[in-house]
Amino acid sequence: RKGVVVITGASSGLGLATAKALAETGKWHVIMACRDFLKAEKAAQSAGMAKESYTVMHLDLASLDSVRQFVHNFRQSERPLDVLVCNAAIYRPTARTPTYTANGYEMSVGVNHLGHFLLANLLLEDLKKSDYPSRRLIILGSITGNTNTLAGNVPPKAGLGDLRGLAGGLNGRNSSAMIDGGDFDGAKAYKDSKICNMLTMQEFHRRFHEETGITFASLYPGCIATTGLFREHIPLFRLLFPPFQRFITKGFVSEEESGRRLAQRSVKQQAHSIVVGILQVVSDPSLAKSGVYWSWNKDSASFENQLSQEASDTAKARKLWEPFDAFSSAV
Ligand code: NDP
Repeated sequence: RKGVVVITGASSGLGLATAKALAETGKWHVIMACRDFLKAEKAAQSAGMAKESYTVMHLDLASLDSVRQFVHNFRQSERPLDVLVCNAAIYRPTARTPTYTANGYEMSVGVNHLGHFLLANLLLEDLKKSDYPSRRLIILGSITGNTNTLAGNVPPKAGLGDLRGLAGGLNGRNSSAMIDGGDFDGAKAYKDSKICNMLTMQEFHRRFHEETGITFASLYPGCIATTGLFREHIPLFRLLFPPFQRFITKGFVSEEESGRRLAQRSVKQQAHSIVVGILQVVSDPSLAKSGVYWSWNKDSASFENQLSQEASDTAKARKLWEPFDAFSSAV
């Protein structure tokens, strides 16, 4: 049978490109778990995805009720679940004030981490039941949450502190809207949420890999500043970032090419290699190892990357999990 993969946020960017690429292999049925049903359906059609290769199902990660409803609807469909890709995210670097999810959590952490945390916990049961040879739960990480890298040291740096804001409800009323209890910073909130994603993946691995055989992995797919993720960034950043990325963080240039054309070409090539990378983590037998944070070098070879000290802090991962054992109880 075909594998069944759920991809959150498959209505644009990397999620859509991955959905299309998986559908085109003919080996996967893709469940596009999206907050805007119509947008996702149109995106799939204009990407040329064959009708029978995908199903759009509504999921708004900013509402825990919607997460539960999605799981219910998915189960009603009676499809097995073989791979879950937690890809959706929002990034609000220029926001001066926090916004909140339906449950009152700061939006970036609420969507990127808490919504996925509940979804992954609930769907773990479905992954366990699947008879697919290689079941996987994948979370998109980011270099920006990793302070052991150049990009991860661009201020404001990620940092969860002692999690006091999260423990207080992350609601901006009787607790801070930031996990570490500090003042709101939209860029930091995104980076913090990505540390949470990476800590969550490792805690899943420690808790459930041995018992279930499921592969838990996160990946840094490489940076591509032309996706919707950067829609709220200042225009100057959007203009400068792709070349910056190529020149500074990648550290190589081809002498004949210059300026804009170079940036555009590199973005296109990079987008392609990013999707190839995600596909490998979804289905390649050589990337079936659990508990790994995958990255790719400039020759597009995968390697097991090191996480920063905070992103691999086991005590913090456990602490991040505990207040939500109740929150993630059955549908
Ligand atoms: P996009 O903004 O293009 O895609 C994000 C997706 O998430 C969209 O489909 C969006 O839906 C969806 N989404 C946002 N909020 C919600 C919500 N409340 N419920 C459900 N879905 C939601 O971003 P990218 O493709 O760039 O990012 C994909 C992933 O890759 C993210 O996890 C990001 O952190 C990660 N990543 C990206 C990098 C990059 O350079 N682009 C670098 C490192 C990591 P809608 O279409 O309705 O807006």
